[in-house]
Amino acid sequence: MNNHVTVLEIDGKALEHNLHYFKNKLHQNTKILAVVKAFGYGGDGVQIASFLKNKVNYFAVAYAHEGEALRDADIATPILVLHPQIQNFDQIALHQLEPSIYNLKTLTAFLAYAKDKEVIAYPIHLKFNTGLNRLGFSKEEIPLIIDCIKKSKHVKIKSILSHLAASEDVNEQDFTLRQINNFKQIIQEVYRRLNYKPMAHILNTSGVINYPEAQFDMVRIGIGLYGFGNDKTETSHLKNSHILKSTISQTHVVKIGETVGYNRAFKAKKNTKIATIPIGHADGLSRKLGNENGSVTILNQKALIVGNVCMDMIMVDVTDINCKEGDDVFIFKTQEDILTISTVSQTISYEILTMISQRIKRLLKS
Ligand SMILES: *Cc1c(COP(=O)(O)O)cnc(C)c1O
Repeated sequence: MNNHVTVLEIDGKALEHNLHYFKNKLHQNTKILAVVKAFGYGGDGVQIASFLKNKVNYFAVAYAHEGEALRDADIATPILVLHPQIQNFDQIALHQLEPSIYNLKTLTAFLAYAKDKEVIAYPIHLKFNTGLNRLGFSKEEIPLIIDCIKKSKHVKIKSILSHLAASEDVNEQDFTLRQINNFKQIIQEVYRRLNYKPMAHILNTSGVINYPEAQFDMVRIGIGLYGFGNDKTETSHLKNSHILKSTISQTHVVKIGETVGYNRAFKAKKNTKIATIPIGHADGLSRKLGNENGSVTILNQKALIVGNVCMDMIMVDVTDINCKEGDDVFIFKTQEDILTISTVSQTISYEILTMISQRIKRLLKS
């Protein structure tokens, strides 16, 4: 059992608040897909999906085994697998996961698989490339792929989707609008060739914020659920869901001239009170935060990280904080904390959340 004192708390109330915030931006009939890939953006995919399962229409994961974990937790909501691979088809079918099919090789293989297993109308999704150039069919492939699919009773297209490359970037508005326009043409072309109308969806979080007119039948919300919009104003309407907490293991007073940590990287210029916290780079705390580049919060005051970040620990300067061993420490509590850490670590909020290692215990508070 993991009784580690460093805990990633997931705030269920924040998830609910954020979900409502986005719901209010949507038409009444627009479905919501919650993206819970990568352990729910570094949280806990199973706990988050269990909490949200009656509040959303769909979940998405990147890989089949992430979907399997949700099914093992008795989550019955439809699950879209964004990046299925041919060797995962058994796992996909066994757990009624819905693959997003993105190329001819995967489509042909899945059609053969479905035929072999004698399944009828297995739900699949078709992913189109409209400019991200990552995964997806091209518009030109529509006649061929729809033809293949129409000939088979073993699969049914549940939705067609695409993904925006720069939905958060207002300087790329022309490009994004072209992607959306492209997608509209793809939808029309697919509908023209089918005798039924699969759902269509293209928007991620910042897509919902910037291009709500392109919500089609469903939107796919990831980072927004966890508290981040694409700018300060949007983020201020959201609540942070991932809170990384620890406690002080030990305090020391180091005298002027003494050093702290590996390589003696911190040298005390005056008598300095130091607190040691059980979290390090093996937990996903970047070494870039060391040497006074990053800080933690103790008793509502900032304490700078001194010396190098160790594998399992950091030391912070608490000279001006009236704290003691056992007191709570917040590595991050607010979106501002996470954004500061991401700036210092030269990355984005997504990576700060997803890099929190599996060594840290997760606890969802509803
Ligand atoms: C990760 C992902 C999303 C969610 O994006 P956010 O910016 O986190 O909302 C949506 N769609 C696809 C295809 C994705 O890979």
